[in-house]
Amino acid sequence: NAPVRQDFIRNIVRDDLQSGKHAEIHTRFPPEPNGYLHIGHAKSLCLNFGVAEEFGGTCNLRFDDTNPAKEDPEYVEAIKEDVRWLGFDWHELRHASDYFEVFYLCAEKLVQDGVAYVCDLSAEEVRAYRGTLTEPGRPSPFRDRSVAENLDLFRRMRAGEFADGSRTLRAKIDMASGNINLRDPAIYRIKKIAHQNTGDAWCIYPMYDYAHCLSDAIEGITHSLCTLEFEDHRPLYDWFVDQVGLTANPQLLAPLSAQGWHLEAAKPRQIEFSRLNINYTVMSKRKLIALVQEKHVDGWDDPRMPTLQGLRRRGYTPSSLRLFADRVGISKQNSLTDFSLLEQALRDDLDAHAERRMAVIDPLKLVVRNLPEQHEETLRFANHPKDPSRGEREVPFSRELWIEREDFMEVPPKGFHRLVPGGEVRLRGIGIVRCVELVKDGDRVMEVHVELDPDTRPGGSATDRKVKGTIHWVSARHAVPAEIRLYDRLFNVPTPDDEDDGGPGYRAHINPESKRFVTGFVEPAAAHCPNELNMQFERVGYFVADRRDHQPAHPVFNRCVSLRDTWAK
Ligand code: ATP
Ligand code: MG
Ligand code: MG
Repeated sequence: NAPVRQDFIRNIVRDDLQSGKHAEIHTRFPPEPNGYLHIGHAKSLCLNFGVAEEFGGTCNLRFDDTNPAKEDPEYVEAIKEDVRWLGFDWHELRHASDYFEVFYLCAEKLVQDGVAYVCDLSAEEVRAYRGTLTEPGRPSPFRDRSVAENLDLFRRMRAGEFADGSRTLRAKIDMASGNINLRDPAIYRIKKIAHQNTGDAWCIYPMYDYAHCLSDAIEGITHSLCTLEFEDHRPLYDWFVDQVGLTANPQLLAPLSAQGWHLEAAKPRQIEFSRLNINYTVMSKRKLIALVQEKHVDGWDDPRMPTLQGLRRRGYTPSSLRLFADRVGISKQNSLTDFSLLEQALRDDLDAHAERRMAVIDPLKLVVRNLPEQHEETLRFANHPKDPSRGEREVPFSRELWIEREDFMEVPPKGFHRLVPGGEVRLRGIGIVRCVELVKDGDRVMEVHVELDPDTRPGGSATDRKVKGTIHWVSARHAVPAEIRLYDRLFNVPTPDDEDDGGPGYRAHINPESKRFVTGFVEPAAAHCPNELNMQFERVGYFVADRRDHQPAHPVFNRCVSLRDTWAK
């Protein structure tokens, strides 16, 4: 039962289908392969793939690889893996670089139409000529070159005759425009570097604003969804699409048709929505790269990173991230989403889907004195309290158990309802025990000895006798030692990225408590699980068997999220 999602973008799409403007919807997700995907990208993925799915259309995965200096095939592979992991299936896999020849032909057309020129100003001069918000720009002295001269120079740019940065191809639009993006923006720059997809084939590379809209048009994208920063670029987006006129000039697609590609160009419409911002984290790729390179975290998939790889390793499920995206919704309002919304989506997803197990992360020995030394039983516990279809598992029980150290207090504060000297508590699934003796080493309690009331055991005459507390346990003889990785939020302030506001910057706000490894004990059924299986360790939190390091013989569990929000003020 998929939820019916309502937002302004879906309304536009619905109207466009109803009015017959489009017979089919085509969207795309266009990452630049210059880093790993993060939770912000998940919002865009859920929107683009979601709209295509909901309206029976298609969504392409397109690598926006027009800036070879920062791009890497490692990122390309990771991005594909992440998109699939989230559960999305792209229609076509494309690269902006697949269209380099078409972009070039389109640029020649612009030159021939007299709306593009080769400019010899340096980057610095271009900036100076461009003007400011309050001051109109000045025309480049090269603005009125003839078509023939421009064509000759542009072809020689492509042929590699000129040095990096010595010339650009620029659109001839309006140096006095109130929108600075329209003051003769660059279309091509010279960069004699190899490209991860096209190798040495090119030494001129198209600018983002030019390549993006044409890629959309080439692929027949109907709705090009992007974040709000691009609102001011929309007039330029439309200008390029209209000036090139791919729909009226399908011959420009010849280099692609020659490769056997079937393409139906369309006039795409850019629609902007607000990007996802979350407190207690940083999301810009530059800062994420710095966290990795400066070793503040253990790599891209460190379970504290907001990357999809990190979230996955932390134990976030694809369905929890989709649930989060649904709850955040789509709007044009910039806002800061509370980190707890992300955590709550995971809790809600895991509460419904994760099986329950028992684990003790700070063990204290408990001896049931009135059971014989060799006593051993196999009990059956439900895997999920609300879902009988998840079945049962076997849980061994014996005379010596591990309990959580914090579930016993020798000198309890008022209101402590767990085990105390002389007091009673219920052992989960067993019955009521009374603390009769302590074994201590100096001040430290080493063992708690209890007596089990046999009448309170399942099937006994006093099973419904009430005590205030119930605690979990694992059988000491059967428990499997496990490495428990207790992760928490990476930053300990809501806005770690405070450099621009005079703060010390995100590096200074790393939460030293965000990673703590302990050795605990888990019941056998928890240890024998596949990597990436999520579980609730009862009363302790939600955990996942580490994707890389967990082995049944050497279990490693990451805390995904605590059972309750401990950050709420
Ligand atoms: P960064 O600023 O981190 O480098 P980017 O926007 O340059 O991010 P791209 O790889 O170009 O990263 O992003 C691919 C798509 O994901 C784009 O359509 C972009 O708008 C979208 N996207 C990126 N970050 C967010 C975010 N925080 N919220 C929503 N969408 C996002
Ligand atoms: Mg980008
Ligand atoms: Mg970027």
